[in-house]
Amino acid sequence: MMQPITKDFYQSVIKNKKNIVITSHKAPDGDAIGSSLALKIALEKLGHNVSVVVPDDFPGFLKWMPFHETILLYNQEQKEAEEALENADIFFSLDYNDLRRIGDYGQLVEAKTDLLKVMIDHHRDPKPYANYALSDITASSTCELIFRFLELNNLTDLIDKDVASCIYTGLLTDTGSFRFSSTTAKTHEIAAFLLNRGAENAKIYELIYDNSSIHRLQLLGYAITEKLEYLPEYRTAIISLTEAELKKFHYQKGDTEGIVNYPLSVKNIVYSIFISEKEGLVKMSMRSKGNFPVNEIASKYFDGGGHLNAAGAVSNLSVEKTIEKIKSILPEYKDALLAV
Ligand code: MN
Repeated sequence: MMQPITKDFYQSVIKNKKNIVITSHKAPDGDAIGSSLALKIALEKLGHNVSVVVPDDFPGFLKWMPFHETILLYNQEQKEAEEALENADIFFSLDYNDLRRIGDYGQLVEAKTDLLKVMIDHHRDPKPYANYALSDITASSTCELIFRFLELNNLTDLIDKDVASCIYTGLLTDTGSFRFSSTTAKTHEIAAFLLNRGAENAKIYELIYDNSSIHRLQLLGYAITEKLEYLPEYRTAIISLTEAELKKFHYQKGDTEGIVNYPLSVKNIVYSIFISEKEGLVKMSMRSKGNFPVNEIASKYFDGGGHLNAAGAVSNLSVEKTIEKIKSILPEYKDALLAV
C-alpha cells in the first residue's frame, strides 16, 4: 500500500498542495529536528505553507537551529497544531514510522483518512499508514534521506546555508559524529556537499556538544564513577540514574544524552545500557559494538526497539528490578557477546 518515492514525486504529488504539516517523534533529537526544519525551509522556498509539529519539547542544544522557534509543541500549542492538521493537504512523518510515536496527535492523523501521508525514515518495521514512503534502514539518518529526497527531485539547489546546517546536524548526531558503522562514503559525500553550501561543521559541533551546564558534567562524572556496573564476563556495562539523583544534579532535558556511549570506550565492553527514571517512567537506552543486536533485546524483553547498535525501550519495572532483569537475560547472549 505504501508506494516508494521516485524521481518525479515533487512534481506529481506535492507541487499543487498548499498546506503541509511535517511531524517528528516524541523527545525529538538532532535528526528529528534537523530533518523537519530542512524540509520545511526547502518547501517554503517553493511557496508552500509548512508547519512543523512535534509532541513535546526538544533539547536546548538544538535551539540555535534556523526557524526552530516556529516549531509547534503539541503538548503546549495544541490548538495551533490541530488547526495546522485541519488545514493540511499533505502530511510528513520524519524519523519515525509508527503513528504511536507522536502520541495523541497520531490519532488525529489516523482519523483524517483523506490526508495524503508521506514517510521518510530509517527505522525498522515501518507501519503501513503512509501513502508514500522513503524508508531505508541502512541510511545513517533521516537527514541523509532528506538529502536523497531533494536529490531525487532535482531540488538540491534549494540547499542554502540554513538547509545545509539542518541536514548536517542530523548526520552529525545520528552517526555519533560520523563514527557508527551506518556512516558510508555517501554520508561523507553529503557532508562535503553541505559544507560547500555553507554549513559550518566546527561551529555546529560546538553548539551541540560543547554547550552544557556544569551540572551536566558533574552528573556524567557521578554516573560513571558511582553508578556504572561493569560485568566483564558479559562484556557489558550498566549505568542507572534515579529521579532523585537526576534532581540532585539539576537535570534538564538532554542532560543524560550520550551517557550510554561512554562505556563503549572501554576495550572489552561491547554492550552498554543506560537506565533512567524520568517522570515516573523507567527508560532505557542501549548501544553495542559490532553485530550485537540491541534492538532484539529492546523489543523481545522490553517495550522498545531501534537499530542493531542503538535502541531504546521503556521498562515497566523499577530501576532496580530492570537491572536484575537485564542480568537474567545476559547468559542467553553470552556467546554472542564474546563473539563480537
Ligand atoms: Mn534518526
